[in-house]
Amino acid sequence: MVARPVDTELRGARQRLVETLREKGIRDLAVLRAFELTPRHAFVPTGIRHRAYEDSALPIGNGQTISQPWVHARYLELLQLAGKERVLEIGTGSGYQTVLLSHLVAQVFSIERIPALVQLARENIQRAGANNVSLLMGDGTIGWREYAPYNAILVSAGAPSIPQPLLEQLAEGGRLLVPVGDRDEQKLVIATRTNGQIVMREEAPMRFVPLIGSHGWGKQPGS
Ligand code: SAM
Repeated sequence: MVARPVDTELRGARQRLVETLREKGIRDLAVLRAFELTPRHAFVPTGIRHRAYEDSALPIGNGQTISQPWVHARYLELLQLAGKERVLEIGTGSGYQTVLLSHLVAQVFSIERIPALVQLARENIQRAGANNVSLLMGDGTIGWREYAPYNAILVSAGAPSIPQPLLEQLAEGGRLLVPVGDRDEQKLVIATRTNGQIVMREEAPMRFVPLIGSHGWGKQPGS
């Protein structure tokens, strides 16, 4: 929700990506606008920048990926954001989705467990000029109680079950998106807090890297 200079580099490629997202069913104009404003090429390693505007997940180092743009767009659309929200993101990665979010809500809080990625995301977010973002290095499965409750919580890694602390940190009327399943494939679950009750429904199948933490998967060698 903050006015910033538009990055004009590769604007044509970015607009073609927006067109692709539209063709694949994304309708929320504010979400599409956030994609227009956010230079994905600045969030991927230089060796694969030529692939930045493909609708595909790409490696960002440390065995992690920047998700497919359509997945980011679908997540953001499902949140039905109005612009005044305080949002918690679990799995900052490159910081790309964090910056998309920063265009759509009042405040973004984002947690990443891998120190090198926190550093990378911090640089990327600063370069993008987003000043409504707070980053934390740590286990996102326990949430960030200090700033709770959140109007929306997005988990960008696949969990074995919904982390209970995240449900507890969801505001009345708030939505939590979390892919739940095994390590290789999950179903996106949308949990909504309505009149104090949690209502859940399942969306599309998804494939995310594992959510590793005390309310997620155990650490495996090298992860
Ligand atoms: N949306 C990100 C982007 O735009 O680059 C990509 C997210 S990537 C698919 C998932 C991220 O979740 C990885 O960076 C991984 O290290 C992180 N992650 C996994 N478990 C975590 C946890 N318990 N707390 C915080 N981050 C976690």
